[in-house]
Amino acid sequence: MRTVYVNGEYLPEDQAKISVFDRGFLFADGVYEVTSVLDGKLIDFAGHAARLQRSLSELEMASPVTSEELLAIHKELVARNELTEGLVYLQVTRGAADRDFLYPDEDTAPTIVLFTQAKPGLADAPAAKRGIKVISIPDRRWGRRDIKTVQLLYPSMGKMMAKAAGADDAWMVEDGAVTEGTSNNAYIVKGNTIITRHLGEEILHGITRAAVLRMAAESQMKVEERSFTMEEAMDADEAFVTSASTFVMPVVEIDGAQIGTGAPGKVAARLREIYLDESLKAAV
Ligand code: PLP
Repeated sequence: MRTVYVNGEYLPEDQAKISVFDRGFLFADGVYEVTSVLDGKLIDFAGHAARLQRSLSELEMASPVTSEELLAIHKELVARNELTEGLVYLQVTRGAADRDFLYPDEDTAPTIVLFTQAKPGLADAPAAKRGIKVISIPDRRWGRRDIKTVQLLYPSMGKMMAKAAGADDAWMVEDGAVTEGTSNNAYIVKGNTIITRHLGEEILHGITRAAVLRMAAESQMKVEERSFTMEEAMDADEAFVTSASTFVMPVVEIDGAQIGTGAPGKVAARLREIYLDESLKAAV
């Protein structure tokens, strides 16, 4: 049985409890992070810890732990669960209070929960060799997608729409432009230029995105951060997505149309290799 972390305690998963009044449960008033574990080490922990602090501060939510404490908890959970390949999920909510739309006062303690999920073969995923299929759907999420909240019902519906269409995921479209994937950032490659949506409140500022764009620039690849349309995407030479748990994942079909040769592209494959290599070297 897994050991999970809840509000200062390490407990067997079946003994961990959260109040029915928790605002994460009642209002989706909570934020989260997912950090990958490879070779028993955390990938880009510093990036995830920094984004967590930003999400909390945008929602005027107190941080229950310092970044140093958070790292210690992550490492302890990885060790206790003997995790070598998988992920650590972290969630912080505004805590338990009488149901009221107004935020409770400051003495309401935030809730913090962490658990691990084993994913053997994460780095060597077969999907990375064959590529994934995506469909396009309208982006019907709220307007502050730069805050990583647990309000994930629409992305969940999007994954179900993709499944019903025989695809693996969905890219969301707003005002004629692709925002991002349901749980990843979206990219196309045209010639030798990598194109991905610019940062703003319309997308999550992916930690993997930041690392991949930095590594692409260091490898002298050309990057354009701008909006792109579905028409442009379907006409691209390559497409791919990035996230903490899929790293760089090639996209080989969009709305039923084959992208490039229909096999994972060279740029995506190279970026995946560089990302895994560099991230593992820097893992803690
Ligand atoms: N965009 C959305 C909507 C996401 O949910 C995620 C990850 O969960 C990402 C992008 C990728 O972010 P990261 O690379 O930090 O995992």
